[in-house]
Amino acid sequence: MEKRSEKKRIVLVPLPLQGHITPMMQLGQALNLKGFSITVAQGEFDQVCSSQHFPGFQFVTIPESIPVSQLERFGPVEFLIKLNKTSEASFKDCIAQLLLQQGNDIACIIYDDLMYFCGAAAKEFNLQSIIFSTTSASHKVCITVLSKLDAEKFLIDMEDHKVQDMVVENLHPVRYKDLPTSGMEPLERFIDLCTEKSNKRTAFALIVNTVTCLESSSVTRLQKELGIAVYPLGPLHIASSINSSLLEEDMSCIEWLNKQKARSVIYISLGSIVLMESKEVLEMAWGLCNSNQPFLWVIRPGSVLGSEGIESLPEKVSKMVSERGYIMKQAPQIEVLGHPAVGGFWSHCGWNSILESIVGGVPMICRPFKGEQKLNAMYIESVWRIGFKVEGEVERGVVERAVKRLIVDEKGVGMRERVLVLKEKIEASVKSGGSSYNALDELVKHLKAE
Ligand code: UDP
Repeated sequence: MEKRSEKKRIVLVPLPLQGHITPMMQLGQALNLKGFSITVAQGEFDQVCSSQHFPGFQFVTIPESIPVSQLERFGPVEFLIKLNKTSEASFKDCIAQLLLQQGNDIACIIYDDLMYFCGAAAKEFNLQSIIFSTTSASHKVCITVLSKLDAEKFLIDMEDHKVQDMVVENLHPVRYKDLPTSGMEPLERFIDLCTEKSNKRTAFALIVNTVTCLESSSVTRLQKELGIAVYPLGPLHIASSINSSLLEEDMSCIEWLNKQKARSVIYISLGSIVLMESKEVLEMAWGLCNSNQPFLWVIRPGSVLGSEGIESLPEKVSKMVSERGYIMKQAPQIEVLGHPAVGGFWSHCGWNSILESIVGGVPMICRPFKGEQKLNAMYIESVWRIGFKVEGEVERGVVERAVKRLIVDEKGVGMRERVLVLKEKIEASVKSGGSSYNALDELVKHLKAE
């Protein structure tokens, strides 16, 4: 049996939100399979992961933190700034304890780029650190662009439509209006946050859950901007067998999918954070039913403002929905997107969802809400051309037409063909000799050599 001290340890620090935990745990599994011990440091309030779910992983607590439930109270920008301030000293204590108890077997601290407080502990204890971006490389480049802007001037400039439509220097085709600022108010504070996020501190590298065949020029630009190694080793979910879902997944939907015709189903999910108005839910319900396509719809508990979920729908609509569709609280999304019956994904365009959809070979209807979701939607529609945006009010006719356009019309065929080409390229990237495979290999070599 291998002795504990023979393996180098990697300390992972995820942001305790689903879209961040999942890729971080997948990265942990990939590194564990390459021979590293994994320790996950998580805040005292949101102990979402435990060794029960992740055999072989060790879990430690950062005693002082802020519960994620405060996200709504403070808004994302203030929440993240407060979380970092609160956790900094406490994380140093946590690392000091680990070093005391286990000796210095820590090869590296890998932290979510929103948990930038970790940089101070790495510096204090002279430990190697790597930043992990769970969003796209293009988003990360946008953050570096934003970090250099003057908030007041930017807001004035953006009143001019010509400026809004201007392409950001060296970031074609991203226009100023695509920069991920929406929902990130106040802008001055968001720019402060971008500055913190873009500061590489003592980190020697950046890992991005992306793949070069999707965003080669952004990866190159990122490398230039940050001046450190960038490892695009995604999509991490392809090789992962880990399930880090915070909500219980409803597997019964697979049986329902098995009964549907190939590529006939539209899958609707808005990720783990987005909230919907009950009026929008009603219009969605009508539009989906009127499209005459079967639908699989995730309505997360608490995600419909002022209502429990579809319970607020009038009886007639509710009956129609249950006849034509399948509603659930949490889907096994990767399995769903890989199911042959699924022909389209109505998505909020979170980065994980996009990667999962492309790997499933499923084109998308984009309904972005805030932050980088709008940027991601622009890439889907204008760069990869594997889906299209639905803008303005969600109204039943709009929903019906969008579903038909993607699943039934000729136009949807081209999008499906292109997504299948990307799927193949991505699958080749994670196989021996592929770009993501090589990036992981290089990273591991570096970590083992230290
Ligand atoms: N997810 C899931 N089942 C659901 C809804 C979401 O498994 O019913 C997962 C999805 O597979 C993805 C993550 O939750 O990995 C959401 O991350 P994403 O980046 O797409 O969006 P976010 O929730 O961060 O806005």
